[in-house]
Amino acid sequence: MSDARDVIVIGGGPAGYTAALYAARANLNPLVIEGFSWGGQLMVTSDVENYPGYPDGIMGPEMMAEFRRQAERFGTEFVTDDVTRVDFSERPFRIWVEDEEYRARSVIVATGASARWLGLESEERLKGRGVSACATCDGAFFRDKHIFVVGGGDSAFEEGLFLTRFGYKVTLVHRRHEFRASQIMIDRARDNEKIELKTPYVVEEVLGEDSISGLRLRNTETDQTEEVEAGALFVAIGHDPNTKLFLDQLDHDANGYLVAQPGTTLTNVAGVFAAGDVQDHIYRQAVTAAGSGCMAALDAERFLATEEGHTGTALTAPRPEAEPTRV
Ligand code: NAP
Repeated sequence: MSDARDVIVIGGGPAGYTAALYAARANLNPLVIEGFSWGGQLMVTSDVENYPGYPDGIMGPEMMAEFRRQAERFGTEFVTDDVTRVDFSERPFRIWVEDEEYRARSVIVATGASARWLGLESEERLKGRGVSACATCDGAFFRDKHIFVVGGGDSAFEEGLFLTRFGYKVTLVHRRHEFRASQIMIDRARDNEKIELKTPYVVEEVLGEDSISGLRLRNTETDQTEEVEAGALFVAIGHDPNTKLFLDQLDHDANGYLVAQPGTTLTNVAGVFAAGDVQDHIYRQAVTAAGSGCMAALDAERFLATEEGHTGTALTAPRPEAEPTRV
């Protein structure tokens, strides 16, 4: 067991590394327990073209390595392993990686969310080569292609509608005739001549060696299969927040997303903050995650300065509510 740290960040994605960068620059000596597969969802995207400051785009893994390096430059330390248990019932908070215990006066939870996948071997093999779970990130690579989207919820419809900007045709494949999506989204899709709704079908196989060439679809009523040519497949069957460790200790919504007080990263436990996709099922962008990571570090800094009587911070004193947030 080590001495209590000022800040432990759990999670190594855009939110976690940004939180660490700000905490490190405030002399809070953060430790990031970044997970065995550090980097988050951007590790499975190819070119990131919508992160400001990279006009020529950057590969997702490279961008995450740069985020990490920037946090490290100011003294952040890392544990490249998964947290297995937490106890936020008293301060200092306790965090375990297997048998190793860490203690912290404040904690920033930035464990992100994971896209649900179909679970096909061919889907796994062709991820980043025509198979994606993020239309905003990857849609523009598939101009003038026949794009398929699987799912029947708002995400699938939203992605499908967005993808009509790029594909010459977008086919939404859903396993039932009834959709979970809101009526307005369904109406918009029905009114869009580029969109075809294909029900009740599931994707049984993604075809192609080095990149996607087609799909094998199965009709769930007749069991008949058919092969179709495809230029891309977007899987939009939902995301799951990575919150299993926290559900019995932190307030969350019905889908397991942590609930932060509006306009802040404060959870129901004083001194525990939530940043990034773990508390955001709406925007889910690297840039918004990074922004909320910054907020969490500032919130933690302020908490330590007021509640814990911390004097080591270089940059902040408690701010009156009306004062604008520093950038
Ligand atoms: P969702 O509502 O849970 O829908 C997931 C869809 O994927 C369902 O239609 C489900 O089919 C299907 N599905 C799940 N597992 C599957 C599998 N293994 N194979 C094939 N299909 C599968 O998820 P979501 O669309 O991501 O939405 C999540 C939440 O965010 C919702 O509350 C939604 O309203 C909200 N959201 C809102 C907006 C917006 O308002 N603009 C946009 C996006 C998301 P079944 O229906 O048969 O279960």
